[in-house]
Amino acid sequence: MTFYDPARLARGSVGPSAERSNRRSADSESAASPESAEQSAADRRHMLEAIEWARRCPPSETAFSVGAVIVADGAVLSTGYSRETDAKVHAEEAALNKLDPDDPRLAAATIYSTLEPCSQRGTVTRSPCTDRILAAGIPRVVIAWREPSTFVTNCVGVEKLREHGVTVVELPDLAEAAMSMNRHLEL
Ligand SMILES: [Zn+2]
Repeated sequence: MTFYDPARLARGSVGPSAERSNRRSADSESAASPESAEQSAADRRHMLEAIEWARRCPPSETAFSVGAVIVADGAVLSTGYSRETDAKVHAEEAALNKLDPDDPRLAAATIYSTLEPCSQRGTVTRSPCTDRILAAGIPRVVIAWREPSTFVTNCVGVEKLREHGVTVVELPDLAEAAMSMNRHLEL
């Protein structure tokens, strides 16, 4: 799509060479902004969806309500929320459990989780979500808020994911909405 600035057109500066230089500057901008603007709009949309799943969690006095959405190539592959399938299941776990672990789309997927994936859990027989995400080979994680020290003293989910080369994006302006269904807990 070529866009002619009317002011520029009026000045007569739109010719083959002006167009080339316009295009060059537009391209260098697009490397940074339109594509990432598109990505960040998609990130917000999917996080809001994850927040909606978090609202469905059966309430608990001993665990957070979290929602998760797994997306690849713009398509939602799976969703999950805390305590969806049993009393202990975590949102990311519930979403991952619905997919074949060998699903090739996971290699290009993003998992949206309203809360930082856990790095240790009370149910010791179950692996932490951080380990599950790494095992699934998901390269990108988007979260809205970091796990507070309510139930575990030091969650290192984000650090561990990054150490293993996973891109972690935080959307702090959606943290309030992501925390809203957890306000009965000490945050
Ligand atoms: Zn977890």
